[in-house]
Amino acid sequence: MESVIAYFQDIPSLHRSMILVGGLTFFSLLESGIPMFSREYRKMHHAGINIAFTLTTVVVNFVLAFVMLQSSAWAVAHQFGILQWLPTMPTWLYMITGLLLLDLIGAYFVHWAEHKVKWMWRFHLIHHTDTNVDTTSANRHHPGESVFRLIFTTAGAVIAGADWWIIMMYQSMSAALSQFNHANIKFPVALDNILSWLIVTPSMHRVHHHYVLPYTDSNFGNIFSIWDRIFGTYKWLPQEQIKFGIDTHMKPEEHSDFGRLLKIPFETYRPPTGGKTN
Ligand SMILES: [Zn+2]
Ligand SMILES: [Zn+2]
Repeated sequence: MESVIAYFQDIPSLHRSMILVGGLTFFSLLESGIPMFSREYRKMHHAGINIAFTLTTVVVNFVLAFVMLQSSAWAVAHQFGILQWLPTMPTWLYMITGLLLLDLIGAYFVHWAEHKVKWMWRFHLIHHTDTNVDTTSANRHHPGESVFRLIFTTAGAVIAGADWWIIMMYQSMSAALSQFNHANIKFPVALDNILSWLIVTPSMHRVHHHYVLPYTDSNFGNIFSIWDRIFGTYKWLPQEQIKFGIDTHMKPEEHSDFGRLLKIPFETYRPPTGGKTN
């Protein structure tokens, strides 16, 4: 356990990049071997846009990492935050509690807010404009979203009172799992059903990418699926009925150009159409 703590306390940037690049390569290979949906789309062009957004996310996270590091160090030094206020517990329990708190406050709640608060949605909807969700979609986030999401995640980490090593462990798990649950892979249904009681599986996250409400506003979970079940935001839709995208921006020219996508948050707000137009 001590070596796990030491590893994540000081995880090299190279290893974090390897999770990103290795995961993308691994799941892309699986997608070409066992695809869930066989679709005709310009895969390289699609991947190009999503990888451009991945790079802007990486840059934002790299530049703002010190904010997170300093905030976590402050919380631990001042014994601030839920984890610090709880009685002393074994390291494994401390770790699991920390991961759950980060997932609830810094991910589930922030994602829920991104769907409910209009100015946040304007940025987050770029993630939802993808009409061909695959493993490259995991980091399709507008740079503006990457900035405020990191700030809110940092606030969540301070409220949780999480140590830096737990934050890094969480971020590494989150990166790998996100690539997994966006992947266009045929995953055994029985295994998916069992796993979905604990973690967010591909079939569960795909429902979140269905193009109309109320499905878009469901399954907000990042790593653990329990929050959606506890707070009543869990929804299910048979996979063959899922249509990826977002009703307000279904025209191909609106979601298949990097520059065009960057401008969306600054355009006039479009209310949900329920799929009636576009
Ligand atoms: Zn969302
Ligand atoms: Zn997604």
